Amino acid sequence: AKRDDHAHIAFYDARAEQIAREYIELHTALRQALDEQEFQLHYQPQTLADGQVVGAEALIRWQRPGHGLISPLSFIPAAERSGLILPLGEWVLQEACRTLQRWHKSPATASLTLSINVSTRQFHQDDFIHQVAQALQLSQANPRQLKLELTESLLAEDLDKVVDTMKALANLGVQISLDDFGTGYSSLQYLQRLPLHQIKVDQSFIRELLNKNSKDTAIVRTLLSLGEAFGFAVLAEGVETREQLNYLCQLGYTEFQGYYFSPPLPLTQFETYCQRHID
Ligand code: C2E
Ligand code: CA
Ligand code: CA
Ligand code: CA
Repeated sequence: AKRDDHAHIAFYDARAEQIAREYIELHTALRQALDEQEFQLHYQPQTLADGQVVGAEALIRWQRPGHGLISPLSFIPAAERSGLILPLGEWVLQEACRTLQRWHKSPATASLTLSINVSTRQFHQDDFIHQVAQALQLSQANPRQLKLELTESLLAEDLDKVVDTMKALANLGVQISLDDFGTGYSSLQYLQRLPLHQIKVDQSFIRELLNKNSKDTAIVRTLLSLGEAFGFAVLAEGVETREQLNYLCQLGYTEFQGYYFSPPLPLTQFETYCQRHID
């Protein structure tokens, strides 16, 4: 048994070493990518039922030479673990504000909101409020058009501190949205303490919607009433089909995001999309 144990340990050591090496390589590559400006934002329309665009979500991509366009799912977790999410997140914030400023110049985009994803670690930085204020000031973007998407996992930690930071952000004029709603830690008790403008109903609920046995229908219905009761907007994410859209409309939903309307698009393609969908 001893021998086997050793073989086991040796195996895990080699495996752990490989994972550590890959991790360091990815970290180095990400840091370089930030210096070389290899990241870009894509923009997914947020629309009314008729397709009129009311906003967008900025989603990061990594244009890695020799690898093509890399999905955030394969580098955001590593960036979060290594801390690189902090400079990366600040870049996203600044780039989004520059985009808002650019959108002011065209009637098709001038009044759109732009949502960015803020990771928990980023939110907890001492100077996060200052970063947001500064990005807004430098770009002269309208704070009311910037929306910060936070996830429910944020609410698992020091809630008093989270509420204070959220209130300070809301005081800057920016809007606050809870992303992937329904999948995490939210409790009704929390909700009434948070200065929220929007919740985004997670796409996992939307996916099961037309499966009539599904409890998800009850959840999707309830989340809308919750929004009405607490006074925040409720957006349905991951809408992929006409049937899902129709059903959500019947339930009373008015704001949508998903492949049915459009995938995330590079900036100029997004702007063209808006030109084509004016009223
Ligand atoms: P998320 O914030 O929940 O973003 C929605 C994801 O769903 C996006 O994936 C989007 O492309 C995808 N999606 C949109 N419509 C549909 C649909 O109809 N069906 C399906 N199946 N998927 C749809 P993406 O762009 O790969 O981003 C994945 C995740 O990476 C995001 O999930 C977010 O958690 C994270 N992420 C993306 N950009 C950033 C960023 O700038 N900062 C941080 N911290 N995280 C980011
Ligand atoms: Ca999001
Ligand atoms: Ca989401
Ligand atoms: Ca998600």
